[in-house]
Amino acid sequence: MAYDFDLFVIGAGSGGVRAARFAAGFGAKVAVAESRYLGGTCVNVGCVPKKLLVYGAHVADELEQAAGFGWTLEEGHFDWGTLIANKNREIERLNGIYRNLLLNSGVTLLQGHARLTGANEVEVEGQRYSARHILIATGGWPQVPDIPGKELAITSNEAFYLKQLPRRVLVVGGGYIAVEFAGIFHGLGASTTLLYRGDLFLRGFDGSVRTHLKEELEKRGLDLQFNADIQRIDKLEDGSLKATLNDGRELLADCVFYATGRRPMLDNLGLENTGVELDERGFIRVDDQYQTTAPSILAIGDVIGRVQLTPVALAEGMAVARRLFKPEQYRPVDYRNIPTAVFSQPPIGTVGLTEEQALEAGHKVQIFESRFRAMKLTLTDIQEKTLMKLVVDAETDKVLGCHMVGPDAGEIIQGLGIALKAGATKQQFDETIGVHPTAAEEFVTLRTITR
Ligand code: FAD
Ligand code: NDP
Repeated sequence: MAYDFDLFVIGAGSGGVRAARFAAGFGAKVAVAESRYLGGTCVNVGCVPKKLLVYGAHVADELEQAAGFGWTLEEGHFDWGTLIANKNREIERLNGIYRNLLLNSGVTLLQGHARLTGANEVEVEGQRYSARHILIATGGWPQVPDIPGKELAITSNEAFYLKQLPRRVLVVGGGYIAVEFAGIFHGLGASTTLLYRGDLFLRGFDGSVRTHLKEELEKRGLDLQFNADIQRIDKLEDGSLKATLNDGRELLADCVFYATGRRPMLDNLGLENTGVELDERGFIRVDDQYQTTAPSILAIGDVIGRVQLTPVALAEGMAVARRLFKPEQYRPVDYRNIPTAVFSQPPIGTVGLTEEQALEAGHKVQIFESRFRAMKLTLTDIQEKTLMKLVVDAETDKVLGCHMVGPDAGEIIQGLGIALKAGATKQQFDETIGVHPTAAEEFVTLRTITR
């Protein structure tokens, strides 16, 4: 049977665009449907605008440090409207780049909501298209628990477009987004409280990292409240929001921001017209080659709920394009040792096993851990400490995990990701010459076993 397209991609986000461009480059006839914004979550309401706001908040640190280096500055003033307008301009520029990337690679771009009407058929704006393969790359959407007053809360989607910086913010959650946005709001001058339901935020990260970041955020004056959750939110006459906690306490705020995880975006997708099944968590079930339970339909990225990171969606998109249209170049995605950063202030960089995971996996571990004041701060009164930690297998000498909290952690951890992928040993770390004077050199000079 002749199809309209070899590949029909639903969603022009990180994974969808990558799959579409590479498939077209391999000679396939490709269409992409996008209902909202080109570039998806990462470009529009995720990684990119988030990092720009983090840079904005970080300026406060630079200003604080300036006096130690002899600079006398007049009292600064921050204007949220300028930051958001400049950020919006940059996002529009990136939207244009994504459009050109797709069009220049010969992909047919369809603007509108796509709905599956069969295993080989998609409907967009009343028009039906047939395709040999369909790729679902529809991403995720913020999930807010069902409490009275939840409609008064915002999520990351709205935070990027707030008209003004709220004076008092309550951030709910203890994952990436909560920690990053608490840092943004606090750094830009809002009185910020982070509420997390458990004992300590960033579950799944290395224990030393979690404790260290907690201490550093508290030093900065961020109000961290653990074992705390909101039971209901009410709007008061003066427009403020009253959050009633599970322990009965009442907190007042101008903004309640929920970052309590993301669900797969399956709204009106028409899965019922196909044989696509969901897994027990509600994400699309795929095999190790991203094939759903309907043989002609594949899925990648946040909608399959494996690792919700842009570089992972990109790698999955590439793998699908190769598998379908350039099988001789196909290589499976390696989900081990994925480096990642949390752009908190100070940021976290991490790759490989945490101490807890290494022990649980049965490794005999040696821990090398160092806490020090970064050289840049020695001329200032700021007492912030950087943490660096290596988790090493005592039997094979292989470095199992590298963890850091401190300036540029994301930049530093990328290179260590390559070392871990190459299977580097502690001895090879030790034999690597440091770059002096940097903080990163500490990773090759950690000599004393802490535990
Ligand atoms: P998305 O990028 O979400 O793209 C899905 C696209 O599909 C969207 O454009 C959507 O409009 C479209 N769509 C959905 N349904 C339909 C339909 N029926 N028809 C047509 N189009 C449809 N990751 C990092 O690696 N680093 C970071 O620093 C980082 N920061 C983040 C910060 C925030 C606040 C958030 C929310 C996420 C962040 N992420 C980060 C995660 C990252 O954004 C996602 O993992 C990534 O965007 C997933 O890509 P995707 O292709 O699966 O989906
Ligand atoms: P996460 O899954 O990282 O964190 C969700 C947090 O919300 C957890 O602390 C969780 O607690 C808590 N939570 C979940 N449900 C509830 C509830 N009903 N009530 C109270 N608290 C709740 O999700 P995020 O929304 O922060 O981010 C989504 C994903 O996006 C991340 O996992 C990450 O993959 C990606 N991302 C990556 C970034 C980066 O690379 N820098 C930045 C931002 C996002 P508990 O731990 O107890 O379950």
